[in-house]
Amino acid sequence: MPEPTAHPLQPATLVVAAGRPAREQGAPVNPPVVLSSTYVSRGVPAPGEPLYARMDTETWHPFEEALGALEGCPHPALVLGSGMAAIAAALSLVPPGGRLVLPRHCYQVTLGYARDLAERSGVRVELVDVDDTDAVLAAVRGGDGTPPADLLWVESPTNPMLEVADLPALVAGAHAAGALVAVDNTFATPLVQRPFEHGADVVVHSVTKYLAGHSDVVLGAAMAADPALHARLHAYRTLHGAVAGPFEVWLALRGLRTLALRVERAQASALELARRLAAHPAVAHVRHPGLPQDPGHARAARLMDGFGSIIGLRPAGGVDAGDALVASLRLWVPATSLGGVESSLERRRRFATESVTVPEDLLRLSVGIEDVEDLWRDLAQGLDALA
Ligand SMILES: *Cc1c(COP(=O)(O)O)cnc(C)c1O
Repeated sequence: MPEPTAHPLQPATLVVAAGRPAREQGAPVNPPVVLSSTYVSRGVPAPGEPLYARMDTETWHPFEEALGALEGCPHPALVLGSGMAAIAAALSLVPPGGRLVLPRHCYQVTLGYARDLAERSGVRVELVDVDDTDAVLAAVRGGDGTPPADLLWVESPTNPMLEVADLPALVAGAHAAGALVAVDNTFATPLVQRPFEHGADVVVHSVTKYLAGHSDVVLGAAMAADPALHARLHAYRTLHGAVAGPFEVWLALRGLRTLALRVERAQASALELARRLAAHPAVAHVRHPGLPQDPGHARAARLMDGFGSIIGLRPAGGVDAGDALVASLRLWVPATSLGGVESSLERRRRFATESVTVPEDLLRLSVGIEDVEDLWRDLAQGLDALA
């Protein structure tokens, strides 16, 4: 990173400037990809000495430094092989038989992992509506013979319902009850929301989505502000071996360089499209935190530096209309996942595993960086055909 200046660097600068090689004469501007599983090592290795690439390898470092700096973490992030590997690492902080409170509408595989923990390790799992602060904190506190939670999991905005949590209130209440708070910050990205600023203990990402941003890598990251917690995540990564390949991490760093531009464009387009969709007769309901009428709007405006670029859409014609819309689009990609440069959409309940409280006809739209009028024309022709 460049020499510190009088002003801390802004996120839009950090994505470009962080994680660069030292500026020695003739040094490359970009970090090299090092493909080596092992390192020359004689005798007893000194702490931090390169040894074996499951433990640590230098191609991870630039991305880890950049993401740690973006999140305002006191140390570099830990890159892992996928978002789920990062989530598994964070959930390992719940002891066997402990209590875990998590949003009813968080990422469905996180819910699946929690169910697995319940069966395997006797973890008691309680699902809450994360935008209902009182209900979340009541669940965290326990009482009546139920011990307080060990960990509160927060996703905000939630996937796919786009509920917005009052993060500072949840952190304060959870800490008062003795619970840790972990935040899946995938949807917001550190450009829009930095959970450590609100006191969160752990932040995880599916780097697969916005951070890498081109739908070409699967990758995750986890980090904790507290050194002892961070060391536990680090130990988990080494022991469980869900590590990232050097090429994937290098691609993610390359993607990260344009994160600020991509997020800025995608957010602006998402808000414009959400407004137009809300006014279309073939649309029954639109959810996007940027819309003034959205239940999460006031909270998002207070807590976030933007509203993200995901839209929840329920067509007036229900499931069949939703499926017809997805099939009729030419520019929008019918696909799962989100946060790529290309706009995509899917009906979430097409998966039998999606929560039954997610409406059957809900389409989740991930707005990319294409021309907004092209995106609208494609949506409008599909919606007009339904009406
Ligand atoms: C996709 C996603 C994940 C899982 O990440 P992978 O990289 O697919 O393992 C976790 N959380 C959220 C919010 C996601 O959207």
